[in-house]
Amino acid sequence: MTGFWKEANKITHALWYADEQACVFCGDKHGPICLTCTANYLYPDLGRCLGCGKLIHSEKTHCLDCTAGRGPKQLDQVTAWGHYSGGLREFIQTVKFKAHPRRIIEIARPFSDWAISQLPVVDGIVAVPMHKTRLAERGFNQAEVIASALHWELGLQIIPGVERIEPTSSQVLLSRQERLHNLKGAFAVRHPEYLKGRRVWLVDDVTTTGATLEAVAEVLRGSGVQAIYGLCLAAGLDEEKLAVAKP
Ligand SMILES: [Zn+2]
Ligand SMILES: [Zn+2]
Repeated sequence: MTGFWKEANKITHALWYADEQACVFCGDKHGPICLTCTANYLYPDLGRCLGCGKLIHSEKTHCLDCTAGRGPKQLDQVTAWGHYSGGLREFIQTVKFKAHPRRIIEIARPFSDWAISQLPVVDGIVAVPMHKTRLAERGFNQAEVIASALHWELGLQIIPGVERIEPTSSQVLLSRQERLHNLKGAFAVRHPEYLKGRRVWLVDDVTTTGATLEAVAEVLRGSGVQAIYGLCLAAGLDEEKLAVAKP
């Protein structure tokens, strides 16, 4: 090949592969999520606890907590795209704490594909609301950004009307009971007319005990919402030993 054609070939190659998205989690070229990261963080072969979304053995329907009656009661089903660890955890933390909400666009397609493969069809999406003080600090509500991604991909309506009226403190170090207590009265429905009789996906970034989803679901039920399906980017693992790598 002459120098000219070599150069032309290089440019064509670069243009062609510019469309090929790198893996969102590791930067590998086979995106949006490479096979290794899919195996390490998303575990598509594991089940999801129908009660709280935790990753469980594929032959089970519920985790140990939900089987023992310690799970959410107000949700019809919960699912999570992956495990809150490694690349997925870093991605969520980058979005939230380093103020990169636009990065949600990168995972919009695979996350939406997961959602429609797991959950029934609904009338719309409700994002877990953020208190206005926190919203002023962060500048955006990550649950709303995720809901927007689902709206773009699937054309689902975003249903407003729920607010967080109490600026609850961090839940990280609290037990499930303490979380439920902490969240009591935290949410309120301002516009029940938007919600009555609807079937919704209730969206948040991460779920651990399901206490936040449960607290929102309770006020949604009180407003006549007919079906509520929790949908999160990430969840924890069942306490029972699972054969997963700890990256
Ligand atoms: Zn990867
Ligand atoms: Zn569970």
